[in-house]
Amino acid sequence: MGYTVAIVGRPNVGKSTLFNRLIEQRKAIVDDESGVTRDRQYGMAEWAGKTFNVVDTGGFVHNSDDIFEKEIRKQVKIAIDEADAIIFMVDVAVGITDLDDAMANLLRVSKKPVFLAVNKVDNSQRALEATEFYSLGFDEIYTLSSISGTGTGELLDAVVANI
Ligand code: GDP
Ligand code: MG
Repeated sequence: MGYTVAIVGRPNVGKSTLFNRLIEQRKAIVDDESGVTRDRQYGMAEWAGKTFNVVDTGGFVHNSDDIFEKEIRKQVKIAIDEADAIIFMVDVAVGITDLDDAMANLLRVSKKPVFLAVNKVDNSQRALEATEFYSLGFDEIYTLSSISGTGTGELLDAVVANI
């Protein structure tokens, strides 16, 4: 089955932008379940001569904060169960939100390696602002711009070092 890396994070941080940059081929899976639409996309990526599966999570619709919180817990739980490693993506342009905190709490106690990816670091000012994400409690932060590709190499070097 190979090594699987899941990209998790709250909506709009840039998960799908990174996913589309990483994959060579993709297959969209749409799963409708009791009013909540959840899509997970699966693809294959290659870096430094190593091939791995990538899972893009999220894309859910929510009607209340309660459902939102529940869905996020489910998403993170599936990612922890399915994946060998997790890219936890946050957005420097928005900063740390309550949902980032909630997801960080779930991921920190997982036994899987978690790579904190601070996305939308499009310029040097944002690189300075990105240091606030150290407070989420992970050893390292990986700053990147998924749109331009800056920083994705350093993130992927760290991810494939475990394969
Ligand atoms: P997702 O909901 O986490 O999958 O986020 P998307 O990949 O759909 O991206 C949400 C928005 O953020 C889109 O408008 C993207 O173009 C934008 N975005 C993604 N990555 C970057 C980035 O590195 N820099 C900037 N400025 N915008 C980005
Ligand atoms: Mg998406």
